[in-house]
Amino acid sequence: MNSSNSFSPRGGNCGPPMHELSVIASLFETIETLAGENGAKAVTGVWIKAGALSGVVPELLESAFDIFKQGTIAAGANLTIKRPPLTIQCRTCRTETVGTDFILACPACSSSDLHIVEGTDLVLERIELETDGPADPEDTVIR
Ligand SMILES: [Zn+2]
Repeated sequence: MNSSNSFSPRGGNCGPPMHELSVIASLFETIETLAGENGAKAVTGVWIKAGALSGVVPELLESAFDIFKQGTIAAGANLTIKRPPLTIQCRTCRTETVGTDFILACPACSSSDLHIVEGTDLVLERIELETDGPADPEDTVIR
């Protein structure tokens, strides 16, 4: 919930795998835009961070990606999905709690002034591009 790189599915109140398909559709728009801006002839790798509570299933995201990439500039791309657990930090004592579910109070000091560090976001972290020019960078970091 804290990243400018988050990509959101359009319109989706559908269950899987439609949710994952709409996420991937949105992702591909971003990938193709970035590839175009960088003059890439192919996208060779895509890295996504999908937190434990991001609402997507990594396996479904992978199969949606494989379906979607056919015939696109990313047809030969490998998808790597990172799945960080939910991390919640207490603003009072700074204790971090890592788990798979939300908590209402800090286990160290019982404060309810908590904020989510990681684990709910769905982010395109990086794509790897193949370009014609030898001077072009191989990697494009998007954060
Ligand atoms: Zn605390």
